[in-house]
Order: sequence, then structure tokens, then C-alpha cells
Amino acid sequence: MSDPVLSLKGVEKYYNKGLANEVHVLRGVDLTLMPGEMVALVAPSGAGKSTLLHIAGLLDDPSLGRVEIDGKVLSGKPDRLRTSTRRQDIGFVYQFHHLLPEFNALENIVLPQMANGISRTAAEERARELLENVGVRHRADHRPAALSGGEQQRVAFCRALANKPRIMLADEPTGNLDPGTSDQVFEALMMLVRGTGLAALIATHNLELAARMDRVLRLEDGKMVAA
Ligand code: ADP
Repeated sequence: MSDPVLSLKGVEKYYNKGLANEVHVLRGVDLTLMPGEMVALVAPSGAGKSTLLHIAGLLDDPSLGRVEIDGKVLSGKPDRLRTSTRRQDIGFVYQFHHLLPEFNALENIVLPQMANGISRTAAEERARELLENVGVRHRADHRPAALSGGEQQRVAFCRALANKPRIMLADEPTGNLDPGTSDQVFEALMMLVRGTGLAALIATHNLELAARMDRVLRLEDGKMVAA
């Protein structure tokens, strides 16, 4: 069996520690994600999903515990190391697409690759291939405002995968879409993830979509429990 690509060990997170408004959001979260695995993260609003995804994505440090990528501890390390690991290994998707409005769909997928040292030609080729995989290649030269919500999210998935990360972290990626679109967009996400063998942790309120993933984890009272 292969080794986990992402591990959280005994992760705790406090906000405003020691103050009257202290919140103890995460209370010892353990989680492992294997390559090729799609795991749903389900929790009521305010339970700490975003906090957990930020910590897993090295955007924030835990108050206690650690985050490992490929067995290497990265939480608590200098910003530069966390940032370079994040750029190389982690792709993020949010509820709102956060595409750059002044660039078209293709350029939104090309730019992060060029920032990583890939030539424009190679980056465009990969961007077209990714767009093709999610059925929006014909929208390559449209700016985000000219795309439907479902198309915007598909492009955001392509951007997240542009630099071939090993881990995808998604925070309610279909939360902003109507149920029919949500289903189709989720299907596209599954295809992309399955096609690449990357590990995905996907927060969702949609229990039907959650049930189609390999495992469902529930965040409850600051701890992770199998659903
Ligand atoms: P979810 O994504 O599950 O809705 P969050 O991770 O956003 O939950 O928030 C979990 C809890 O932590 C909430 O009670 C929220 O108010 C609190 N919280 C989140 N970020 C901060 C912060 N920067 N400072 C203080 N409290 C925060």
C-alpha cells in the first residue's frame, strides 16, 4: 500500500486564545489522504471546514499538531517553504470561482503554469486539454463574466489542476450552483480527479454527492469522525 500524501496529526486550532472570545475550533483532528482518493468532508456551517482546509493547504498553521505532505512536516515551517510546497503540490477550489475577470478561460489556466516556469506553448496545450476534459474547450476565449456558473467552476477546476498538484482541496465547490448544474459539475470534477490520480478532500453540504466519494468524514465538535 502506498503512503499518505497528506496527513493531519492531532491538529488543534484556537482563535483569540486567552481572550474572552476564544474559540477552540479544531480539537485534535487526525486525517490521512491517500493518492487517488476522493474524500468528502461534511460539517455544519461554522464547524471549522474552512479552517481545516486552510491548515491542510498550508495557508494557516495549527495551534497544535502537525501537517505532513509525503511524510514531511510542513506546518510551522517558514512561509517560503510552505508557499513553494503549496504551489507545487496543492490545488484549491473555492465556492466562488475567483477567476481573474480580465483574462479569458484559457489564460486563467495558462498564467499559473507560466508563473511556475512552463512555456506559453506547453501551458496553452495543457490548458486546452484540461478544458476539453471538462467539456468547456469551446469557451476557451471567453472571459469569466461571459460563462455560466457551472462553466466558471469547471474552469476553476482546470486552473487548480494546471500545475499537476498531488492534492486538491475544495471548499463547497458546487455550493453556489443549482442542483442540476451542481451534479454535472461534480461529475466533471470526479472525472478530472480520477483521470489524474490525485488525492482530493472536498467539503460539501450535499450528502448525495458526498456519498459518491470514496469516504465521507464528518467534522463534529472539532473532531473528525467517519460518517
Ligand atoms: P466553516 O467553514 O465550517 O463554516 P470556519 O472554519 O469558517 O467554519 O469557522 C469555524 C469557527 O471559527 C467559526 O465559529 C468562526 O466564527 C471562527 N473563526 C474562523 N476564522 C476566524 C478568525 N480569523 N478569527 C476568529 N474566529 C474565527
